[in-house]
Amino acid sequence: MTLTLHRLSCGYSRTPVLRDVSFSVGAGEFVCLLGPNGSGKTALLKTLVGILEPLDGRIQVGGKDWAAWSARERAAQIAYVPQAHAPLFAFRVLDVVAMGRTARWPLWSGPTESDWKAARGALDLVEMQDFAERRYTELSGGERQMILLARALAQEARFLVLDEPVSSLDFGNQVRVLQTLRRLVSDGFGVIMATHHPEHALRCANRVAVVGNGRLSPAAHPEEVLTPEVLEAIYQVPFLVTQLTGRDGRPFSLCTPHLS
Ligand code: ADP
Repeated sequence: MTLTLHRLSCGYSRTPVLRDVSFSVGAGEFVCLLGPNGSGKTALLKTLVGILEPLDGRIQVGGKDWAAWSARERAAQIAYVPQAHAPLFAFRVLDVVAMGRTARWPLWSGPTESDWKAARGALDLVEMQDFAERRYTELSGGERQMILLARALAQEARFLVLDEPVSSLDFGNQVRVLQTLRRLVSDGFGVIMATHHPEHALRCANRVAVVGNGRLSPAAHPEEVLTPEVLEAIYQVPFLVTQLTGRDGRPFSLCTPHLS
């Protein structure tokens, strides 16, 4: 199963933010999108999951036009983790997670026993089981982000589309989320993640694409893309990329902005 974008234009209110975007993500692939604020990462992700209509071009999943999939079928294919937002209603956390499975609920009824089981399993996966009975409105931004990830996992879709999922998390939770995503990818899920952390792209992604000036660069190997020159062009500050050796003796690259 492959998710393919073909010459896609996307944006808000019929004004294109990105044009001529072509790329594909397969099962077992982890693709990261990097780009400055306002470059159109969210517009692209929202178009991928059907929140925004494509302004031009095509999205296909498994060779079938995305527009031809029903809402239920779409939910079995792609789950979305938005940036954590202020919630409107004081839902119980377990209910929020179970909402990830609305497309699987029997018509005219609520969650079944297997939906509750899947919701609890998703909370276990992100180690948030102790939050099940809490009110979503009473969680910190980082805790909400973990619950939104659990909601997407409960959906059991083949592709996960994530918009800066670790931006409000502490280091421990950042690593836990990235490890969970890597595990899902090795189990055959496809992941597309917008991130502001070149480090995370280097550690997790099979391919990285850069969003800027209304275009998406071809997705390529992280070590090829994440050079000081490219990072400086994205963020307009000097960057260092240093080679280090990990605890396991394996080499890895570290990207850091250079503070003078
Ligand atoms: P990113 O995720 O890379 O920060 P966005 O997709 O959020 O980029 O924004 C791309 C551009 O679209 C920005 O110029 C932003 O101001 C604009 N934009 C964002 N949301 C809306 C909206 N709801 N309506 C119109 N323009 C928007």
